[in-house]
Parts: sequence; structure tokens; C-alpha cells
Amino acid sequence: MKAAELAALQNEPACAHNGKPEKAGCARPKPGATAGGCVFDGAQIALLPIADVAHIVHGPIGCSGSSWDNRGAHSSGPALYRIGMTTDLTEQDIIMGRGERRLFHAIRQAIEEFAPAAVFVYATCVTAVIGDDLAAVCKAASAQWGVPVVPVDAAGFYGNKNLGNRIAGETLLRHVIGTREPAPAPPHPAGVRVHDVSLIGEYNIAGEFWHVAPLFDELGLRILGTLSGDARFAEIQTLHRAEASMVVCAKALLNVARGLQQRHGVPFFEGSFYGVADTSAALRGFAALIGDADLTARTEALIAREEAAADAALAPWRARLKGRRALLYTGGVKSWSIVSALQDLGMTVVASGTRKSTHEDKARIRELMGEDARLIDDGTPTALLGAYHALGADVLIAGGRNLYTALKARIPFLDINQEREFGYAGYRGIAELARQLALTMESPVWEAVRRPPPWAARDTSAHAGAAHA
Ligand code: SF4
Repeated sequence: MKAAELAALQNEPACAHNGKPEKAGCARPKPGATAGGCVFDGAQIALLPIADVAHIVHGPIGCSGSSWDNRGAHSSGPALYRIGMTTDLTEQDIIMGRGERRLFHAIRQAIEEFAPAAVFVYATCVTAVIGDDLAAVCKAASAQWGVPVVPVDAAGFYGNKNLGNRIAGETLLRHVIGTREPAPAPPHPAGVRVHDVSLIGEYNIAGEFWHVAPLFDELGLRILGTLSGDARFAEIQTLHRAEASMVVCAKALLNVARGLQQRHGVPFFEGSFYGVADTSAALRGFAALIGDADLTARTEALIAREEAAADAALAPWRARLKGRRALLYTGGVKSWSIVSALQDLGMTVVASGTRKSTHEDKARIRELMGEDARLIDDGTPTALLGAYHALGADVLIAGGRNLYTALKARIPFLDINQEREFGYAGYRGIAELARQLALTMESPVWEAVRRPPPWAARDTSAHAGAAHA
């Protein structure tokens, strides 16, 4: 990818803090500085959940090993995306210039063995440096086997993970979206008018979007495609026909939403499905953009029904969680959307981590938590545990990498990031979040592991006995 193209991808007019001085805190490529994920990793994160695609990593096997299947995006059908494919380039291949040939054969093997809907080929640092012509190989393979083969020019050294997300989005805009027309919508069982919508940046972690999808069905909102949780290649091809898009918790894919708006006139809004209030706001967002009075009325009726049901389901949990204090350490939009969900449950968020949050995210945290909101940038175990004890927290809510920090410190912990095993989206997801919080905080294990071990008690009494004698 040319330097000018990379610079253009960094300029995202749909991002509220684009071009402002604080943009220094946003995704700006620092070649070589790949801690937290390289561009290739970011591109795979955004595209890998497209379930019926063969994803081939063109490079040394280490690139695949450090990225493949590192997120819990669930599929309701094909599981092809779970198969790690790589050209596994060796030094011999590189020295002898065999990279492109190996890639061509890898594409053939993937198509012959797995009959994928499409093949995505990811560049890595090594194949970008040796100058393999990914686009030419993909074009030739596509012509040979009649299957779409998409080059993803996302070498790790281009920058950081956010830029990788954006390159993935740009790749879809260039090669995939708009290449197929959707089938006519089947009639709705209730006879209401069906509207086509799309979701951008929804990854269906732990299958959580399945909590929300039935509400879309009921409202007559056909989800043309989701980028990219539980997605199919053919669905992504039709996103240009959506009447409205929602950017779900993923600033990095704003370029797709803007591209859809500019090229195909698809309006979009940003929202979240975490918490009762945000889920209702998201549904209202679609109704507002589509502008169908009947849809708006039905949306309001559905929200009233679901909020009442959620209130009833949450009542026992709220009684158990009320006043409990949480230290939240997660990144990006989750730093505020989860604050809102926890406040829905009657909990107090004593501090929120903001290391990966934008200035807009921080402003929303302050809006929710007040101007005195404690924001934490330092995610080291010492700093996190220091804040946990100083602020009198009852639970640490963070990503999987903090799990062992919490276990070693013998404090309750909840995994909120992509490796989690439970879905927290929507009206039903918030009840699951409440259940998991109560389970971890009320678990008898904490009291047991904090007690002195029995042999320490024996030692003490033995010493006391000896001293007495
Ligand atoms: S693409 Fe480059 S930075 Fe990323 S994993 Fe491979 S070698 Fe490392």
C-alpha cells in the first residue's frame, strides 16, 4: 500500500476528533511499534468472523500463530473461518522467490478442499518487504477458479491495529460491498413493511447479538449483513442496499459507514447494545433514520414491552448489586457503554480505564460518571490493584489479560473483552451481565482463599503451645 493511501486512511472525516490536536491520541501509524496488535492483526480481527470465507495468511507461520482465532466471534452456520490457513513461508521460499507460487497453490488448495464463498489473502511484513504482488496473484487465482479472491494489503509494519481495522474496511469497500444485489425480502409474518439495515463493528462475541436479532426480526428490520460477526460473504456484498447502518462499538470501522453513506447514500448512526437504555436508543436510531411512522410506533411499543420485561428480570439482580462498586478497565467505546450498563444495574463505577479510548469516549464517560470521574490510563497490575483497593472496589471488570492479576490478588473478576464466554448485549444480555457479576462477587471462593491456610493456623497454635510450655 502506498504512503499516500495510508495517510488517506488516517484522515477519517466521520470521526469527531479528526484533524484536532487531540488526534495524537488516535490511530496513528508508528511503524515498528506493534505492541497491542499490528495492522495485519487488526485487519484479521475485522474480517476473520466472515464465516464462509477461507482466510489465508501469506507469510511465516508465526503471523498466523499470533493472531488466529483470538476472538470469540460465533457463527450460526459455517465454521470455515475457524480453520487457520497460511502459506507458511520459510527462509528458503523467501530466498528462492517462491512466495507468489506458494500463495497461488494455497488458494487452489483452499478452494478445492473447502469450496469457500471467497478467499481473503492477508499480506504480512515479510511478503510486503519481499514485494510479492498479492493483487496480481489474487486476480489470476480468481480468474482461474471463478471464486472471488480478495487481497488484504495489511502488512504489520504499516502501523497499529486500528489502522488494520480501517484497511480491512477499505478492502471491503473496494472489493466486496456493492458486488451483488440482495434477494427480495420475504413477506413479514405480521404483514409489516420490511426495511433493510446493516450493522458495522458488531462481532457477535460469545453469540451476544443473538440476544438482539429477534427484535430486529419482529420489527421487520432485515439485517442485510453484519460486519463482521456471524457474517457471510454474500451478505457483505449487499450492504450498499441498506436503508440505514449502525456503527456498533467500533470507531475504527467508521470509514465503512462513511463510505456507504458517500458512495451509496446509506445514512448511519453510532450506538451500543450494552445496557437497557443504550439498546432502546439503538432501536430508536434505526426508526429515526428510516423515517417510517409505522416502524417508529412499533419500535416504541416494543421498547416499552422489553424495558418492562427487563426491569422485572433485573429486579432481583439489582437488589443484590445495588451499591456495589466496580473498577472498569477496558478500551474504546466499552469504557463508556459498559459504564452505562453497570449504572443500569444500580452499581457505582469507581473508575474507568481509558488507555484505548478516544477523547469523545472520555467525554461520554464524564457525562455518565460526572466531572470527577476517575479515569485510569495505567493498566499495569500494580496500578490496577492500587486503584482497586484505594477506591474500595468490589469487582475488577477487565479484559482476559488481567484475569491472573485478579486471581493472584484474590479479588472478584469479570472478563468483559473479546475472550469472554457470555454475551452481554441487548435486554437479555444485561440480565446475563448482572448474573455473572453477582456470581463472581458472591462466590464463596474469595473468602476461602483469603483465609490463612490450615497449616498456618496449626503452626501458630503449635508455637503458642511451645511458648506456654
Ligand atoms: S505481520 Fe509483521 S508485525 Fe504482524 S505478526 Fe506478522 S511479522 Fe509480526
